[in-house]
Amino acid sequence: MKDKIIVACDVSSKDDFIHLARKLQKSASFIKIGMECFYSLGNESVTIAKDFGYKVFLDLKLHDIPNTVERSCRSLSRLGVDILNVHALGGLEMMKAAKQGIQTGTNSPLLIGVTHLTSLNQTSLNGELGIKKEILQFTIDLAILTKKAGLDGVVSSAHEVKEIKKACGSDFLAITPGIRLGTENQHDQKRVMNPAEAFSEGSDYLVIGRSITNSDNPDKIFNKIAQELL
Ligand code: C5P
Repeated sequence: MKDKIIVACDVSSKDDFIHLARKLQKSASFIKIGMECFYSLGNESVTIAKDFGYKVFLDLKLHDIPNTVERSCRSLSRLGVDILNVHALGGLEMMKAAKQGIQTGTNSPLLIGVTHLTSLNQTSLNGELGIKKEILQFTIDLAILTKKAGLDGVVSSAHEVKEIKKACGSDFLAITPGIRLGTENQHDQKRVMNPAEAFSEGSDYLVIGRSITNSDNPDKIFNKIAQELL
C-alpha cells in the first residue's frame, strides 16, 4: 500500500528537500517533485531522490506546442523518473508528441495527462474558463482524449475516478491529488477526499502533500495513513 501513496515534496531549497527525503525514508517509497522543487534544484532534485532510493513522479504538467513538448519529454525521460505528466488540455496532437518523446528516450516512464485541476471547481470551469460543461463530463472527455493519445492514465480528483474507469477501462491509471485526512486546512484545494474513500473510488495512486509534509513528524503521519488503509 505504501507504494501507492506519493508524497508531494513541494520545497524550494536543497537543504529542505534533503531534510524531507531523510525524514520520509523509513516510510514512503514514492515522492513527487513538482515545479517548485524542480525549478529551484533542477535535475539534481531527481538525482537526490534516486540516491535516497525513491521512485519519482516528476510533476511538471507540460503544456506547449507538440514539438516543444516532444523534445522536453525526451530530455526529461532521460532523467530516469518513473512518472511524467502533461496537461490534457494541450490536445491530442500534443499528447501524442509527448508519448513519442518518451518512446524514443532511453528510459520509459509512465506518461499521464492532467485533467481538471483539483484547485478548480464548477464555477471556475464555467465562469472563469468559459467552458460550458459539467465538471464530471469535462474530466471524462479529457480522460478519453488522453487514452486516445496512448497515455497511461490521468491525474484527476478522486470524485471523477469511478466514471473515468468506466469510460477508459480499469487499467487506465488514476492518480489523485486533493487528498485531505479529515478536517484540516484544505488550502487551495477545492475538490478533496480522504485516503480511504479515494482508494475505494478506484484511485491507483494518491498524491498527498501538505497533510504529511507540514507535520513535524511526516514519517508518523505517513505510517498512520498507510496503516489505516490496510
Ligand atoms: O499539499 P497538497 O496535498 O494539496 O498537494 C497536492 C500536490 O499535487 C501539489 O504538489 C500539486 O501541485 C499537485 N497537484 C494537484 N492537482 C492536480 C495535479 C497535481 O494538487 N490536478
